[in-house]
This record gives sequence, C-alpha cells and structure tokens, in this order.
Amino acid sequence: MPELPEVETVVRDLRKKIVGKKILEVLYCDEPKIIRGMAVAIFKKKIIGQKIEKVERRAKNIFMYLSGGRVLHIHLKMTGHLLISDCRFQIADGKWVGEGLPKELEEKVNQFIHLVLELSGRTILAYSDMRKFGFWHLTSKAHIEAVVARHGPEPLDDEMFTLATFRAILRASGGKIKQTLLDQSKIAGIGNIYGDEILFLAGVMPTKIAKKLRNKEIEKIYYNIRPTLEKAIKMRGASIGDFRDTAGKKGYYQESRLVYGREGLLCLQCGGKIKRIKIAGRSSCYCPKCQR
Ligand SMILES: [Zn+2]
Repeated sequence: MPELPEVETVVRDLRKKIVGKKILEVLYCDEPKIIRGMAVAIFKKKIIGQKIEKVERRAKNIFMYLSGGRVLHIHLKMTGHLLISDCRFQIADGKWVGEGLPKELEEKVNQFIHLVLELSGRTILAYSDMRKFGFWHLTSKAHIEAVVARHGPEPLDDEMFTLATFRAILRASGGKIKQTLLDQSKIAGIGNIYGDEILFLAGVMPTKIAKKLRNKEIEKIYYNIRPTLEKAIKMRGASIGDFRDTAGKKGYYQESRLVYGREGLLCLQCGGKIKRIKIAGRSSCYCPKCQR
C-alpha cells in the first residue's frame, strides 16, 4: 500500500499538473463502487464544471478541494494509481489506447482504468486500480475534518510531531513498537515499508513493547522518522509493489532499502542474515544483530 512518501509524491504531482484546471467531463466509469456513497450520474452532475483549487495530503489520504466548496477525498488503498495524460490518448475497455502512448502507461499495472475525467487544457485524469479497494468520495469540508481528526500527528510537521509528543504516544501505547508506528490513529502515514526501515536505522527490534522503550531508543526512532520519509519522497517513493506516480513511473526507494522485504539477504550494515517475523498479522523484516 502506498505510504506517506508515495502519497506525497502523487499529491505534489497533482499540484503541479492539475491545480487550477476545470473538470469538463466524466469520460469513463466502469466500476460504480469506486465512487463512494453516490450514483455515478449524481457524481457527474456535481463535479462537472468545478475547478480544482488545491490538493492536500493527510496520512495516506488525498483531498482535492473544488471551487463549489466540496472536497474529493481519494484513497489509493492497495493498487490505486492516479494517472495524468493529455487528450491524445483514450481509454477502451479499461486500457489506454492511442498512437505514441508512453511506455509507462502501457505497463500492465497502469491498465486497470475504472474512472476517467477530462480536465481543461486537454488533460486527462485517469484512475487505475487492479484490486479496486481504492475510492473517490465527494464530500463536505466537515467530513474531511472528521477524517483528519481520526489520524495522529503528521511526522513531517515539526510543530505537530515533537519528540515529547512521540514519547507520549509511545507511553500510552499497549502494543509493540512496530504496531504503534503503523497505527494511523497514533502517527499518520507510516506503513510496513518505512516502519521496518525506521526501526532498522534506530537499531530497535520491532517486537519491543512501545511503552517500555528507554529514552535513548525513543530518540533514535524519532530522529530517524523524518529523514527516512524525506529521503523516500526525494526518491519518488518505493515501487516494491504496485506503486506508480502520475506519469505511471516507478519510484526508486526500493533500490536503497535496508531491510524491508529483504528476508534471507545479507544485512548491509553487519553482513548477517535479515530475518522476518509476523507482528499483528503483518510481516516485519529486521536484523537480529543490528537491532536489539
Ligand atoms: Zn545487521
């Protein structure tokens, strides 16, 4: 699932490419359930003619603020991709067609298109989602505030996410540190990839009980969260799984990852073997020598 760095990459792309554009038409929709809580015909009626005024991210959520006061809340879930292209290309049977199609859009993962908007400036915004867990929800600002309130602080926000805040979150947690880092109600945006990477860099075992961590360990984790996420944003996210940016291109964090998904491979720090365990039903990779 795309985590904070992947969603941030998409949001920054959207700001550059579609903010200020008008929604002219819904060209295609073959999967009504992606539009949450609204019939396609009503959705169409409500968004056509609206201007995209700003795009924000909170945790793994994307919020597109529209000129009429409503907000389009988009969650990519497992395999959702927002793809931006120009009007030369069309969609037929959920696949891109057209002369001179960029090779990225021809890639299989970008060929599960379920929703297409035509925007001003001859722009196409298409939504590809192989597993169809993602959603688009046209809603009110009040609802967006409620979604935001369900999440913990943003780790890239220094004022919101101080060392003292982080310590308080851990002290109040009943679970293991890995589980706590992934809990969106406690801290926003960290998932399995960056959770493993942060704990490796901090030298802390993912199974340690969060509230029993020593101050030194808490500091080490805290001071690795922001640099890890920022490095991943610079690398345009991790495409270990299905993630692609709005041009359909892969990120490249996976090329420098340290432990995530490296079970059985050698630790880049000590040469020992990377191990994998399950914590709360999710895989965790770690180095038994470097992490204590
Ligand atoms: Zn090691």
